[in-house]
Formats: sequence, C-alpha cells, structure tokens
Amino acid sequence: MFDKVLIANRGEIALRILRACHEMGIETVAVHSKADADLKHVLFADESVCIGPAPSSESYLNMPAIIAAAEVTNADAIHPGYGFLSENADFAERVEESGFTFIGPRAETIRIMGDKVEAIKTMKAAGIPCVPGSDGPLDNDPQTIKDTAARIGYPVIVKAAGGGGGRGMRVVRSEAEVVDAVRLTKTEARQSFGNDMVYMEKFLETPRHIEIQVLSDKHGNAIHLGERDCSLQRRHQKVIEEAPAPGITAEQRAKIGDICVQACQRIGYHGAGTFEFLYENGEFFFIEMNTRVQVEHPVTEMITGVDIVREQIRIAAGEPLAYKQEDIVINGHAIECRINAEDPKTFIPSPGKITEFHAPGGLGVRVESHLYGGYRVPPHYDSMIGKLITWGENRDTAIARARMALSEMVVEGIKTNIALHQELLNDEVVCAGGMDIHYLEHKLGLS
Ligand code: ADP
Repeated sequence: MFDKVLIANRGEIALRILRACHEMGIETVAVHSKADADLKHVLFADESVCIGPAPSSESYLNMPAIIAAAEVTNADAIHPGYGFLSENADFAERVEESGFTFIGPRAETIRIMGDKVEAIKTMKAAGIPCVPGSDGPLDNDPQTIKDTAARIGYPVIVKAAGGGGGRGMRVVRSEAEVVDAVRLTKTEARQSFGNDMVYMEKFLETPRHIEIQVLSDKHGNAIHLGERDCSLQRRHQKVIEEAPAPGITAEQRAKIGDICVQACQRIGYHGAGTFEFLYENGEFFFIEMNTRVQVEHPVTEMITGVDIVREQIRIAAGEPLAYKQEDIVINGHAIECRINAEDPKTFIPSPGKITEFHAPGGLGVRVESHLYGGYRVPPHYDSMIGKLITWGENRDTAIARARMALSEMVVEGIKTNIALHQELLNDEVVCAGGMDIHYLEHKLGLS
C-alpha cells in the first residue's frame, strides 16, 4: 500500500480523499492555489504545497507544478478527484512517467473514453448497447449526411467527438436543417475543442439518465454497484441524484450491470468508473464513460456500504477487489442534493465569506463539505460547496430525511440553492420518481 498520496484537487472531494487516506493509514499531501490556503483539507493534510495563483489554469491544471510537488514531498501516488486533470490522459501519462502511480485507469483508457467516437466504437465492440447512430464520424458530403439521418430517423442529434460538459451538440428535426447543422457543429467543435470530428445519433425525446458504477482491478476482477438516477439536471449539470433508480428491477440491474462488468474486463479497465446511459422505454443506451470518481458516488456508497474512494486507492496499489459481485447487496435508498453557492432563482454564483455554518445531522444524514464558519468561498472555481446525502430504508424515508436535513442546514453570508432543493423535494413529480432529463428545466420554465 502507498505511504503517501498527493491530492490533486480542492473542496469537498479533496476532503473526501483525505479522509479515505487517513482511515487507511496513508499520509496526505494537499496541493492548493494561493486562493485556497485555508481549505479544510489543506489544514488537515500532513503536508501542503502551494502550486500557483488562483486561476485553475495556473494551479489545479498546472501539471509540472503538481508533479514537482509530488517529487519534493516524496509522494507515491496522485489522486486526481473529479474535474480538473482527472480525465486528462496526458496528465495520467506524465504522472506515471515521473515514477508515481496515477489513481485511475491507464492513460490509454482515458484517451479512448475522451473521444466519443472512439468510446462508442470500443463500447459497441465490448457489447454495450449504444444509441442508434452514424457508427463513426460523419463525412462532409451533403447526400451522405442526409442518408445517414434518414436511416437513423428524425429527430437526430449531431455531437462533437471531442465535446464535453454538454457543449458541442445540436438537435435536428428535419432534412432541411441537417446539412447546415452538421457544418455549424463542425465549426464550433473546431473552435472549442480543436477537433472538428462530429457524429450523429438518434435524439431521444424523454429519456432518463441512469448510470452504472463499476470497480475493476488489475487482476481481471470487476463488479458493479448498481445504478444511480441523475435525471434532475439543469444545463446538463446534475442537481439531485439517487440510488437505486426508481422502477428499475433487480433483473434489469443485474443484466445491464453484468454487461458493464464484462466490458470492463474486455477493455482492461482499472479503477472506479461509470457507464452513463440514457434510459427510455425500458432500454439502456450508452452515452459516455466517466473514468474517475463522480460527484454523486456517495449515494451508491450509502446503499452498498462500499467505500468507493478506498477501493480506487486499493486498486491503484495493485490489490485485488475486496468484494465479489454476490457480496454487493442493495440496502434501502439514498438521495444527494448538490449544495451550490448561487442564487436559487437566477443561478448566479454567490462567492463570499460564510458568516455562519451549521451542518444537519441525525440517522441516515451525511454531509460532504469543506465549509466552516469564517471560510471564504473563492470566486475562481465551481460553485458547489457541499453535498447533502440522506439514506433511508426506502425512498420516502430518504426524502423525508433530506427535507428535514435541508431545514436544519444553515449557510449564512452567501446565497445557496437550498431553497431550490426544498422545492424539488416537495414536488409531486419528483416525489413520485422516474422523471425524465428535461423535467427540471420545464419546471423552471427554461425550456
Ligand atoms: P457531455 O460529455 O457533454 O456531458 P453527453 O454525451 O454525456 O455529453 O451528453 C450530455 C447530455 O446531452 C445528456 O445527458 C443528454 O441530456 C443529452 N443527450 C446526449 N445525447 C443524446 C441523445 N442521443 N438523445 C437525447 N439527449 C441526448
């Protein structure tokens, strides 16, 4: 096992990783920007190194500075968390070339999954069900584009191979628009991602977002931890997630889970990963694989009892998985609210000093947050300041606990989206469960 892990991230996930390390008896190195010296995990870490000024391009994305910090502190491994460099294949490669272990899959795997056309090709070959589509990049010939769309059937969605974060996509509803739409998406993709490769898929009108969590070690063992439903989204950003997904049967879970496990074994996947699917009319359609720990991993931990971050570290250190598939039993229901420093109505970020902070508590209540009274939320980074996760023996209890916990939670000095969560957890459709990915934007009057 590693003696020392460097945490190449900030905020709640850095604290989450630090806790997993300390529990395992591993020392930690926190790296932080000049704006982040008072982050909670920096204060708790065994060592800390300032890696640059506030802008993430000069700090959390600064590969030489992070690797130099690992060198001077003599760390064994680097945990990238989520966001920042976590899905950067070049970073994974440079970490390994510098003699450290990257806590995540091989650089080659990250590179494949970062290119959506390659990812879909690889997943199809590995037996994963995908959205009917162009089977590879679209070429420029107008007639071929029209034929491809006609074969798939309108509406279709044109997507950039290098896209991410919900950007580089365009829905097309008729043949009259399709050639121009492809040309426009290509131009935008070239400008935004430096890669003008685009492909086409059937556009699903009312899908749910359901994803499968997997763990796969370096010895050919892989398991799945069931699914999460992350359909409540605004601008492709998840707002509330839950596990298990309402209405998904044990048989469906076992079937899609097993397909993902086999795909992990076929591609030699190492670490924790998530297969994201759109789910419509009882069918799963792969959209992408995330090759890192996800924000919403705690809901899965709450219903399976598996510490996903600890397993990531164990797998990276070359240990075999501590669980077999039959050890994984789904117990109860968990729901997560992402707490953001933002106006609950306009969604405008609200950085600033926290004058008062009280975390909720009680049975089945978990708070993952780096907040404390007096902490100043910097304006330079993502507005998420914490996550409230509640567990109950069934969905209704998990929701009831979430409502109660939200009413107990006090964050003063800045605006937060707590009021939005309270509204959502009292919404009839949300309480019934199984809403599609457009529900939140419809409710907010955004679409
Ligand atoms: P990104 O990497 O930008 O997140 P994804 O491929 O994961 O891109 O797609 C982001 C979102 O776009 C999905 O969560 C879904 O809301 C929508 N989307 C993507 N593909 C389709 C599709 N074929 N049909 C309907 N919606 C889609």
